[in-house]
Amino acid sequence: MLSVIPNPPRIALPIVGSDDLFPVRRVYCIGRNYAAHAREMGADPDREPPFFFMKPADALQLVPAHGTTEHPYPPRTTNYHFEVELVAALGEGGIDIPKERAAAHVYGYAIGLDMTRRDLQDEAKKLARPWDLGKAADFSAPIGPLHRAASFGHPDRGAITLGVDGVVRQSGDLGEMIWSVPEQIALLSTYFTLAPGDLIFTGTPSGVGPVDRGQTMSAAIEGLGTISLVVT
Ligand code: MN
Repeated sequence: MLSVIPNPPRIALPIVGSDDLFPVRRVYCIGRNYAAHAREMGADPDREPPFFFMKPADALQLVPAHGTTEHPYPPRTTNYHFEVELVAALGEGGIDIPKERAAAHVYGYAIGLDMTRRDLQDEAKKLARPWDLGKAADFSAPIGPLHRAASFGHPDRGAITLGVDGVVRQSGDLGEMIWSVPEQIALLSTYFTLAPGDLIFTGTPSGVGPVDRGQTMSAAIEGLGTISLVVT
């Protein structure tokens, strides 16, 4: 049997120190997982726990570890925000995964950006509508190469930063997450059957803000290097 249209491409992440690829299935994201960021978004982290949303897998933009990659400014926004995030890539799936066994399901980690059309997201919040128009723009999930947990380990602390044109805008620590990566996997697996190839964007520290055409974003996580993008 032939496909009646060209087969849509399967997004696959390069793996540091290997010629092999990590094919992506789904992209899950967590919202308000750092207390200071929850507060800057007008929420009370003591009363309102983090929550999940999704991006389409083809919103991923592969960003090499070296050089500066062009990142297109999306349409229908005048307030396009950066959010630097640790991304966990699952090598094993399951349902009702116990927290104590969850880390072993992670194949590796990468630096990601949860780029957001904040004006559209704010409008969706106000009107109690879905977040997709704000969160799922084309190219809205830049991601660096995957570092294998087998060599990198499972980070529970370490600096996570984002700079714009050399000025630090976000500066946090992975240890400030409200829900740890294993807790996120455990909880998410009560809602969905997780599978190999799933990514989880694990939330952003405070300091999110707008970026404009011509500006360069540099996102870094301790041990995972830096990715650099110029907005075009
Ligand atoms: Mn985010």
